[in-house]
Amino acid sequence: LRTNFSVIQKETGFVNGLIAVLHDNTEQEKIDMERREFVANVSHELRTPLTTMRSYLEALAEGAWRDEELAPNFLNVTQTETERMIRLVNDLLKLSKMDSGETELNKEMVDFKVFFNRIIDRFEMSKSQNVIFERDMPKSPYFVEIDTDKMTQVFDNIISNALKYSPDGGKVSFQVSEVDGLLQTKISDQGMGIPKENLDKIFDRFYRVDRARSREMGGTGLGLAISKEVINVHGGAIWAESDYGKGTTIFFTLPFETDDGGEWE
Ligand code: ADP
Repeated sequence: LRTNFSVIQKETGFVNGLIAVLHDNTEQEKIDMERREFVANVSHELRTPLTTMRSYLEALAEGAWRDEELAPNFLNVTQTETERMIRLVNDLLKLSKMDSGETELNKEMVDFKVFFNRIIDRFEMSKSQNVIFERDMPKSPYFVEIDTDKMTQVFDNIISNALKYSPDGGKVSFQVSEVDGLLQTKISDQGMGIPKENLDKIFDRFYRVDRARSREMGGTGLGLAISKEVINVHGGAIWAESDYGKGTTIFFTLPFETDDGGEWE
């Protein structure tokens, strides 16, 4: 809060009034601070892969390119870092589009269970870890009007996190149920979990519980922030619960209908 005082003074020099103007700067200051922090984060996130690439390229230029063993290895590192930067920039573009309200939702009515099962099937087919999947879906169909591409990203982010943090032989469970008039999806893993005090922050941009570990796994720190935006524009909510050391559960809700609204049936 900032206060400006003006003194009302007559030509004779007599003071006959005082005006106090109160400015509420807290909101604007908060926005400015967040913006500065965001720019600092983006710069940092880009500088890290760039400096790594520079040192590997320097080594190659100084002769490592002749070494049959080292060269492919060093090139591999620069490739991985380039890919991370592309992912990061793509994620940033997605967020900035959503921030400016430019994203148009390409909504269609889908049977949520069919949609969700298809995504789980894809992960089940391609997963390389020893992780068990468990599904618990409602019997009756639930229709949701969603942008399937954007919602697929949400599922991909949450499920790939669950897999990333799962121990060998761990279980990832998927559950869909109706709760308080909304369709609630629950995705749980038996990984390392998240300390209570960090639970809300994981949806913030660039927040990671363990920065080094996330980076090592190729994360951008933006996956859950994007997921939150997508769920919000669909009229739902997203949150996390965790038993630290035992596992994490991500919940999100979506409005639903019990029929697809089709005119021909
Ligand atoms: P990242 O690219 O780092 O995975 P996300 O936005 O997807 O970024 O997640 C933010 C952070 O939340 C992660 O870095 C990690 O610390 C934490 N996190 C997310 N999902 C899980 C999970 N299933 N188990 C443990 N930690 C998780």
